[in-house]
Amino acid sequence: MTNAVLIAGGGIAGLAAAVGLAHAGWRPTVCERAPAFSEVGAGVQLGPNVTRILHAWGAEAALDLAGFQPERLLARDLHSGEVLASLSLKDAQHRYGSPYVTMHRAALHGLLLQLAQSHNVMLHNNQQVQKLHDQTNGVTAHYSNGVTHTSHDMAVVADGVWSQLRLQLLGDGEATFTGHIAYRALMAQTDLPATLRTQDVTVWMGPNAHVVHYPVRGGEWLNVVCLLEAVPAEVEWSEHQNTLTPEGWQSLQSWNTQQTFAQTQQSLQHALRGAHSHLQQLIEHEVDWRLWPLCGRPPMRGAHEHAIGRVALIGDAAHPMLPYLAQGAGMAIEDAFELAQQVPTNATADVQQGLLRFAKARWQRNARVQHRAIRNGNIFHAQGPLRFARNMGLRVLGARLMDVPWLYGYNAGK
Ligand SMILES: Cc1cc2nc3c(=O)[nH]c(=O)nc-3n(C[C@H](O)[C@H](O)[C@H](O)COP(=O)(O)OP(=O)(O)OC[C@H]3O[C@@H](n4cnc5c(N)ncnc54)[C@H](O)[C@@H]3O)c2cc1C
Repeated sequence: MTNAVLIAGGGIAGLAAAVGLAHAGWRPTVCERAPAFSEVGAGVQLGPNVTRILHAWGAEAALDLAGFQPERLLARDLHSGEVLASLSLKDAQHRYGSPYVTMHRAALHGLLLQLAQSHNVMLHNNQQVQKLHDQTNGVTAHYSNGVTHTSHDMAVVADGVWSQLRLQLLGDGEATFTGHIAYRALMAQTDLPATLRTQDVTVWMGPNAHVVHYPVRGGEWLNVVCLLEAVPAEVEWSEHQNTLTPEGWQSLQSWNTQQTFAQTQQSLQHALRGAHSHLQQLIEHEVDWRLWPLCGRPPMRGAHEHAIGRVALIGDAAHPMLPYLAQGAGMAIEDAFELAQQVPTNATADVQQGLLRFAKARWQRNARVQHRAIRNGNIFHAQGPLRFARNMGLRVLGARLMDVPWLYGYNAGK
């Protein structure tokens, strides 16, 4: 009899865990509290460290179909528009053995869902896992509808940045608002003037803010994200999260907010004042902009944040991060792959040992990526002499500064 694993959360981390564990011979059940398996948001970038795993799971053709391989990564000064440095992304296949891909998040989620279905993973909607009880012979799950299940050899917590299950298991508090917000929009490239159409990933770096855009949906759409160090008026917030009112928390968690176009413009024009004319044109494009608060935790401090008894924590539940290295979903997929490598299928007695190996193999890498994302934020948002030094460094060292071999060359599970 194959071992049964309960996965709480059907986002990118939960579905990736289901695929990886099903591959390794487990019998996964995914419980998602939402009424449907779907993904909000816009674009996602996947480095070769991630596409390598999707290929290993047999998704190479699906990834080719749903993904787009951008030409280059460009670093530009937000004010002057100068291209400070450029790295070929098309070369990723040659340098790292797998491609650098951009895609719509719903397409990535759909790809993982299809893989899970093809492995006969049990998928339940409207099923909120309220509590996990780790016992010597297995994990008991209590659901919000009052039902209890006892027959799981292992559980995986993949309930995202606002993880209530983590709170229960580790008791280390809620994620906190970072003071950074993202405005996201999708634009049809055909609606843009020729000067704004692009096949590249571009980062425009300015004081306390940056803008990233890249093609998705076969290159026909542009995913645009403006990242600002700003606190919207709706939220009472200070450095001490305790001053945030319950209503404030509620509004943070439910944001995939659409403001009026005028409100969005007011915030963006203020934060990105003095931006290069091309960027100005892009921001002024009249589309549906969505606001997203960036919440997180300090970088991981130890293996205990990844596994406790027979329960693994993965994805944003374990290590939410600023999106400034574009690797949050990537690390969730790496977690899933490593978990499947480390936890044996039929020797029930070894599950806890396997989880310990998984946790030890993952936490330092995730902490390093979290640290690097914070550092990237400081570099992207630099002002004064730091900005001058950044621009000089990029002009001189170019691609050597932008490539990240320790990140992209990593082979999860090896
Ligand atoms: C602006 C922005 C840009 C980004 N860009 C990139 C990028 O380019 N590349 C990249 O790799 N990453 C990127 N990320 C990060 C990435 O989106 C996240 O790291 C990733 O989506 C996390 O997936 P997850 O499955 O852990 O969490 P989630 O996507 O939050 O999924 C959690 C799921 O669990 C469900 N759930 C919650 N509680 C329960 C419960 N008790 N029981 C059952 N179900 C439950 C939720 O409904 C949800 O479906 C970006 C993030 C942001 C904000």
